[in-house]
Amino acid sequence: MPVFDVKNIRKDFPILSRRNLNEKPLIYFDNAATTQKPAIVIETIRNYYENINSNVHRGVHFLSEEATTKFEEAREKIRSFINADSVEEIIFVRGTTEAINLVATSFCRGKIKENDEIIISFLEHHSNIVPWQLLCECTGAVLKVIPINSNGDLMFDEFEKLLNERTKFIALNHISNAIGTVNPIEEIIKTAHKRNIPVLIDGAQSIQHKKIDVKKLDCDFFAFSGHKVYGPTGIGILYGKKEILDAMPPYQGGGEMISSVSFEKTDYNVLPYKFEAGTPNIADAIGLASAVEYISKIGMDNIENYEKEIFEYATNKLSGIEGLKIIGTAKQKANIISFLLNDFHPYDVGAILDNEGIAVRTGMHCAEPLIKFFSKIGTVRVSFAFYNMREEVDKLVEAIYKAKKLLG
Ligand code: PMP
Repeated sequence: MPVFDVKNIRKDFPILSRRNLNEKPLIYFDNAATTQKPAIVIETIRNYYENINSNVHRGVHFLSEEATTKFEEAREKIRSFINADSVEEIIFVRGTTEAINLVATSFCRGKIKENDEIIISFLEHHSNIVPWQLLCECTGAVLKVIPINSNGDLMFDEFEKLLNERTKFIALNHISNAIGTVNPIEEIIKTAHKRNIPVLIDGAQSIQHKKIDVKKLDCDFFAFSGHKVYGPTGIGILYGKKEILDAMPPYQGGGEMISSVSFEKTDYNVLPYKFEAGTPNIADAIGLASAVEYISKIGMDNIENYEKEIFEYATNKLSGIEGLKIIGTAKQKANIISFLLNDFHPYDVGAILDNEGIAVRTGMHCAEPLIKFFSKIGTVRVSFAFYNMREEVDKLVEAIYKAKKLLG
C-alpha cells in the first residue's frame, strides 16, 4: 500500500494555496458540494483542448480517432474503477441528477403503472426525490418514504414493512449529503432482490470516499458525479446492469443514440450509446478518468482510513464545544458533520467562518425534508476530503469560538 502523506498530496491541488480576501489561507470544508481538482485533471483537460479536440465516433481524420480512443479509454478506466462487467454498462451523463432522471424517465415509459410503488428514503437529496415525483405524476404510481429515527438512521424494520407486491423500484443514497448517515445499502439490495425489485444507489457522496464494487454490491444502478470525485463538473456516470439497460427505452433522442433513422422508423444504437444522445462531454469524460486514476494511485483504502481519522477527530473536537449540537448522530456516519451553534442562524456562523478563510455550507443542503425534520433554519455543514488536515480542524474550532463570541 503506498504511504499516505497529506502534506505532499496537498501540493497536487493548486487551489489549496489560495487565500481569502482577508489573506487567510483557504480551509476548504465544502467537499460534499464539490471537491477540488488535482493538477493532473486540469492538465488533462487543457491537453485535450490544445492537442486532441475533435468530435467522437464520426470523423475519418486522425484527431477524431484520437478523441474517440481517449473517450472510450476513459469509459474503460471508469468501468474498472467501479468493477462493472462491461463498458456497455457505463453511460456518460451530466451528473448524478441526470443519471437518476434518465432512469426515472425511461421507467416512466412502460415499466411503471398506476398504483405501483416506488420507495425512496427520508435521507434523500432533492435529486433523488423530485425525479420520482415526476415519475409518479406521469404514471399514477405512489411514492413511499423509508422513515428515520431521531439520530438519522434509516429504520430498516419500517423499510421491510413498506415492501409489497406493488413495490416496483427502490432508490436511495449511499451516504447522506446533509448529515453523513451511511445507509445499509448491502442489506437493502439483498432484501429488495429477494422480491426481484431493482435498486438504484445514489453514490454522489460515497464514490469519493469508499471503494465501490458494483458487482459485489449487486445494485442494479449506481449514479455519481465527476465533480464530487476530484473530476470536472458537467460529467457523471450512470452504471446499470446490461440486461436492465437493454430493456429500457432511450432517454433522449438525437445523434449517436441511433443506428438508422427514417421518417417511418428509427432503430436505436447498442449500449451504452443508446443513452448518449448528442455530442458527449468528451473533455470532461477524459478528465474524470484522469481523476479516478489519480485517486486509485493514492489508494481508496488509504483515503478511507485517513478520512475516517479526520472525521473522528473533528467529531470529538466539535462535540466538546458548549452550545454546539451535531445534527445527525447515526451509528454509521462518514465525512460530513452538520451542526447548530446555540440559536444562531447557520448563515451568520458560516459568514464568520468565511472571514477566517474556512469554506463551509449552510442551509438545507438540497435535502429540505430531511433538514427540516431536525431544524427549521438549516444547519452549518462541514465536509471532509483526504487533503484536509487536523490543523485545519483546530482552526475551525478556534473560528467557532470566535463566532460564539461575536454572535453571543
Ligand atoms: N445526490 C446526493 C447525495 C448529492 O450529494 C448530490 C450533490 N450535492 C446530488 C445527488 C446531485 O449531484 P449533481 O448536482 O452533481 O447532479
